[in-house]
Amino acid sequence: MKVPFKIGNTVVTAEVFQHGQPSPTFLNVHDDENTSVAAGKTVIEQTGGRLIEFSHGGQRNVRFTLNGERHAFDPNRIFSEVGIRHTLAAHGQWSEAAHHAVKRFAAQYLERFALEREPLVIALHNNTEGALTIESYRPGAAHAATSAAVHVAPSRSRDDFFYVTDRRFFDYLQRKDFNVTLQDNASVPDDGSLSVYFGKKGIPYINIEAEMSHLNAQIEMVRAAREMAEEFGLMKPQ
Ligand SMILES: [Zn+2]
Repeated sequence: MKVPFKIGNTVVTAEVFQHGQPSPTFLNVHDDENTSVAAGKTVIEQTGGRLIEFSHGGQRNVRFTLNGERHAFDPNRIFSEVGIRHTLAAHGQWSEAAHHAVKRFAAQYLERFALEREPLVIALHNNTEGALTIESYRPGAAHAATSAAVHVAPSRSRDDFFYVTDRRFFDYLQRKDFNVTLQDNASVPDDGSLSVYFGKKGIPYINIEAEMSHLNAQIEMVRAAREMAEEFGLMKPQ
């Protein structure tokens, strides 16, 4: 199934891949993070679930034209007013019309797939070697302010880690010795990302982040997240 969303003169398509039951729901918002999509589809084919993937030309950011002006935004920075303002300004120019167009797109996306009624949302991401790692969340590091707790697993690549909003997930994944950071939902800066959005809504959220070339590691992580969803009773009833 393909669902088109219009932003100005541009169309962003959400492609839905489903096998068996529609739970859990996996989200891919960065169109250039293809390993994460492959990992999600592999596990969905084996055990069921649905993946909602943005398609808009294979780049991280969405570019659109409105009233003859070009704009761009990071699709994981549009789930708050301040996030929309910052991402439009960071990737070109902010305007009131562009702000409203992006805000409408974010609302339509959440509504069309009833994401606020999910018992659990799992986002799939990739990074490049050494750029963003579990070390980034350690005390004193760049993203320490977002983190209430961090577990670094020496046996894993530091590029492959879970970012979770729920203490139960942190404890579970730490026991399995995965790299994991727990978002500090009360004090995390609002960057308009889905983790902050769902964290504030109290909707359990997991971000699975792996290096682009680590397909097998990411499949193992997706599998672990799915098992955790079952263990905590976070699968949607049939
Ligand atoms: Zn990403």
